[in-house]
Amino acid sequence: MSAFTALPLTKPMIKNLETLGYQKMTPVQARSLPHVLKGEDLLAQAKTGSGKTAAFGVGLLHNLNVKHFRVQALVMCPTRELAEQVAGELRRIARFKHNIKIVTICGGVPFLPQQISLEHQGHIVVGTPGRIEQHLKRGTMNLDHVTTLVLDEADRMLDIGFADSIEVIMGYVPKTHQTLLFSATFPKPILDLSTRFQRNAHRVAVDVEHEQNVIRQYFYESGWEWKPVVAAQILDIYKPASALIFCNTKLQCKSLSTFLETKGFSSLAIHGDLEQKDRTEILVRFSNGSTPILVATDVAARGLDISGLSAVINFDLPFEPEVYIHRIGRTGRAGKEGMAFSLITPKERFRLEEINTLMGTAFEVSDIKTLEPATQESATPPMVTFSINGGRKTKLRPGDILGALTKDAGIDGGCVGKINCFEFYSYVAIERTMADKAEKALSKNKIKGRHFIVHRHE
Ligand code: AMP
Repeated sequence: MSAFTALPLTKPMIKNLETLGYQKMTPVQARSLPHVLKGEDLLAQAKTGSGKTAAFGVGLLHNLNVKHFRVQALVMCPTRELAEQVAGELRRIARFKHNIKIVTICGGVPFLPQQISLEHQGHIVVGTPGRIEQHLKRGTMNLDHVTTLVLDEADRMLDIGFADSIEVIMGYVPKTHQTLLFSATFPKPILDLSTRFQRNAHRVAVDVEHEQNVIRQYFYESGWEWKPVVAAQILDIYKPASALIFCNTKLQCKSLSTFLETKGFSSLAIHGDLEQKDRTEILVRFSNGSTPILVATDVAARGLDISGLSAVINFDLPFEPEVYIHRIGRTGRAGKEGMAFSLITPKERFRLEEINTLMGTAFEVSDIKTLEPATQESATPPMVTFSINGGRKTKLRPGDILGALTKDAGIDGGCVGKINCFEFYSYVAIERTMADKAEKALSKNKIKGRHFIVHRHE
């Protein structure tokens, strides 16, 4: 890995990257940034967790003309969660200079506030293609000054069905612009997209270790009605610090999560029926370690920036073996060993054969009797999440919340976990031992001179 100082970046940019703890470039950054900075097109294979946001973010922020109050870069993402994460990362990188405005434009939230933000002219728009298309068609967004277009997780955008919207959006961007295309996989539709919209694109593919090597995979045969019990046994015996459980239907997600709760596991279900705010809250609680188990459908898990999980459990096997590989790829990242468990009914044995054929493996089903009965009590999650009814739009920042907990309430900073500030809401994770103290402090004391409504989520 090489240092950021090897790139023609300004001192404030390098200094800010150092403050963020980015000492050296990740492989995808080292191979992408020289081209991004030169304004060249790029077709890069990169996954979430590889540092891909900075691989385009450092470049487009460096090339930005801050005094020119027009949208100069457009970043398209498959989901709102990803767009929020990308915008968050870009804002951190943008701290090297004052007044860089980054606007998120995603579906599932009211239109008008977005329109108002756009009227105030952001430098960078990050969003989902469907809503961006709507704004363009209504004339509430102007892309006449865009110089860089980023398609992030392009394969997922096509999977979701955003191809038409992307096509429409391309028509609103000036002919000469830089297009950066990031994708985890390179199926034909992605290559077609590149051929149509890119010029002499440099291809960057970073060697990814064979993930199967670091994922221990187990297959248990179970009667359909016993699957919830087997899932509980697996959780009890292996005690993963974080586990994502896949079900094929949202009804199953809900009922499994409820079952696990009755067995003393702290779990949440995420599915398409949820309001955006509830969805965000569930993700925050899962990713900050206060709820270790998340039950999801493939659709709901799409775009979640959740990697490096201790375990993935296929409560239902997916219909396609490719989806199996995709699912288990969320565990065992960054050299850490992961675990993948799959529950198979006798009728589904052929699915295991399909997986073996695709992966060139020879996994067999194990007898569930080899699992000990679930008797021990489950571990309590180490963190507790609090929500606060203030966020970025009401000028509440992570530092304010941290200050209220550490300086005002005397809680050790080491006991404070992730702080997530959204537009109107914020979440903070606190070590369980300090949760009561934090609850009192946050509800009784003022934060930044104001009272907020604080909820404890267990
Ligand atoms: P991404 O793949 O963009 O989602 O990034 C994954 C994580 O890596 C994020 O939390 C980034 O803040 C972090 N990150 C990105 N680049 C670097 C770097 N050069 N050094 C250390 N951390 C990084």
